Amino acid sequence: MKIYHGNILFSPRLGELTVLPGGYVAVEDGVVRGTYAQLPEPLAHGPIEELGEGLLLPAFNDLHLHAAQLPTVGLGYDGDAGEWFNRYTYPAEQRYSSDLDYAAGVNGELIHSLWENGIMRSVIMCATGPEATQDLMKRLMESGLGACVGKMNSDHEAFGEAQESMPASCEGTRRLIDWARGKSALVRYILSPEFVPAVSEELLDYLGEQAKKEGLPVQSHMSEGEGDLAMVLDRFPREKLYGYVWDRYGLFGQTPTVMAHCSYVTEEELELMARRGVFIAFCPNAIQHIPGDRFLPVRRALDLGVPVGLGSDIGGGHTLNMLQNMASAIQVSKTLCAGRGLSAAEAFYLATKGGGSFFGAVGSFEPGYQFDALVIDDRALVGHGEYTLAERLQRLLYCGDSRHIVRRFCAGREIPDPAKG
Ligand code: FE
Repeated sequence: MKIYHGNILFSPRLGELTVLPGGYVAVEDGVVRGTYAQLPEPLAHGPIEELGEGLLLPAFNDLHLHAAQLPTVGLGYDGDAGEWFNRYTYPAEQRYSSDLDYAAGVNGELIHSLWENGIMRSVIMCATGPEATQDLMKRLMESGLGACVGKMNSDHEAFGEAQESMPASCEGTRRLIDWARGKSALVRYILSPEFVPAVSEELLDYLGEQAKKEGLPVQSHMSEGEGDLAMVLDRFPREKLYGYVWDRYGLFGQTPTVMAHCSYVTEEELELMARRGVFIAFCPNAIQHIPGDRFLPVRRALDLGVPVGLGSDIGGGHTLNMLQNMASAIQVSKTLCAGRGLSAAEAFYLATKGGGSFFGAVGSFEPGYQFDALVIDDRALVGHGEYTLAERLQRLLYCGDSRHIVRRFCAGREIPDPAKG
């Protein structure tokens, strides 16, 4: 049993903050046993680790990002989506898939950035190359961070040429599933069709079968823009909605599923997602960089009970700083949902328990939750006044970055800097 003593903040429910100034959290075998304002007698005699005057928060979770796009973050936002894809994204993904030395360098930098930004769990879409994907999984396993990682499946021409053949896509996926099976409790393979326009019916069938047979989670994009939605409905007129196409192939909540964006999602799709527990990765930066006419109705999704987490969506989004992603989520939601934008506590929930729930009992300090935690030194942000803990969280969210994160824990284990490992 380990006891940590510090200023504890977590969000057990959307909009709610549990605040324990000078509180205690008891952790056993990597799992939270309880949080206390005062330590109960049976626990009072064990060794207590003092965390000082900083904050102890659940670690952040990123539900959507692209490993191969790390080198193109910040590029292509001046043009349209076509320029972003063709000039920057596809060439970067092709290089990542074909040049393993290059991919290994990108993977190392990505893991360091995740660690630095306090993202202890992430859902990562790689490019089509299986070797680069396996390299990332292997490095993540060594790092101690948690993740769902998948090789992208993309055998059908969408906006450009198909990126791989159907047999190569199946073979690469199969190899990775076999390689990853049983290797790690923290790093899992996730089936990763790019989006419906880029996947053939045969490959959708194959992925649905694998999801069912292996019980594997699924990640993709849905209704990101008007263009991709029109392509899907044109190809699958009988399904009528994008979500029903995924559903027809068993890729919509039959196993844990996360869909990025969902900008053009309908009420009927949101209801189905709520029933099936299909997660939405809300990516507030990406939708501002290459905006369409519509945005995810995030408040409506939450009202209907759809599970929502945050996605940095690098390189569609520009930063793995989850604090900045939270601030951006609040700003965007205020524009999108007149009068009903997200509060700081709600954005904090999305970045912690909201997204963490995709990985199980993750993202909170309630009993039974994995102890994924960050120790924050916010002295530089609170030097000029008296602040409550909730105000300190708000200061951190708007003004903070990785410099304020001083310690990181995943599943109870303190994670050292992967760059120094
Ligand atoms: Fe994406």
